[in-house]
Amino acid sequence: MNDIYDLVIIGGGPAGLTAGMYSSRARMKTLLLEKMLCGGQILVTDRIENYPGFPEGVGGPELAEWMSRQAKRFGLEIMTEEASSISPKDGPDGAFTVKLKNGRSMKALSVIISTGARWNSLGIPGEKELMGRGVSYCGTCDGPLFKGKEVVVIGGGDTALEDSLFLAKFASKVTIVHRRDRLRATKILQERARANSKIELRLNSIATEIVGPAKVAGVKIKDVATGASSVIKCDGAFIFIGITPNSDIAKDLVKLDDKGYMISDDDMRTSVEGIFACGDVRKKTLRQVVTAAGEGATASFSAEHYVDRLKGKEYK
Ligand code: NAP
Repeated sequence: MNDIYDLVIIGGGPAGLTAGMYSSRARMKTLLLEKMLCGGQILVTDRIENYPGFPEGVGGPELAEWMSRQAKRFGLEIMTEEASSISPKDGPDGAFTVKLKNGRSMKALSVIISTGARWNSLGIPGEKELMGRGVSYCGTCDGPLFKGKEVVVIGGGDTALEDSLFLAKFASKVTIVHRRDRLRATKILQERARANSKIELRLNSIATEIVGPAKVAGVKIKDVATGASSVIKCDGAFIFIGITPNSDIAKDLVKLDDKGYMISDDDMRTSVEGIFACGDVRKKTLRQVVTAAGEGATASFSAEHYVDRLKGKEYK
């Protein structure tokens, strides 16, 4: 079984990197596949304030780099490649085959899926057409381009509020458009947004169009109560309306919920023995760096026990 990995981890965000650190310390032969830079969504997070151990907060890219370095220190092998499929276990070794987009493949006795999630789009007129011309899904990336300009943020969750506060450092005005009469975001973010003189809230409002034509000139909104339409003039429209799990790789193999999140138990075991899930791709109630890291550690521990059992070496 020497050419076979004990564990292949697909996805190098906080969940995958923590799993990789734990499995390397457990001396499992581990490969982590990440199609881009390791770090996942924290790569585009300006500051993380709720990860323990950093009383003043920590920059997202900085934390990603440290997590990567820490995992590699214990011997984790990281490959910059995209996994395209996982074939069920076959043959006497009980190994899965993980195929890569580049045509190569590798065998793994266990697999952890930590592929995270991607931003949703609204699907309203002007959104696609003006992408990169004022429409953005990343405040941290594009915020500095809007120095002294007015922007609209659509959404009422943590991402919308955090990014609005970041955008307010550059923009002259940030208008948050949210479809309900109250926000979904964590209370401390709401307090900060309400206390920021550059931020205005437009509740009970649905964005119906991003107005162009050549670049963003405004966002058309409809008042939920009256049905009246109006246009908020702006130079940028930032859309933060939630996420969709990157679970395509698992969809024909393991059980997903109706939104595509992978179903797993407290030990991160999915419906297929030997496949584990952790991080934002997993069905759960709280999506945070700290929960992703904890789940990564648990997934690795479960994979270790599973592989030891397979090899007849389990420590009981
Ligand atoms: P989210 O929590 O799902 O919030 C999405 C927001 O967009 C909601 O307010 C939702 O409205 C609104 N929305 C959804 N579809 C819409 C549509 N078609 N039109 C208009 N509005 C729409 O997503 P998120 O803010 O991206 O956060 C994702 C996860 O990451 C969450 O679990 C969040 O807690 C976590 N996160 C945590 C932090 C942190 O801890 N600092 C930072 C960022 C993200 P409704 O409220 O009406 O449903």
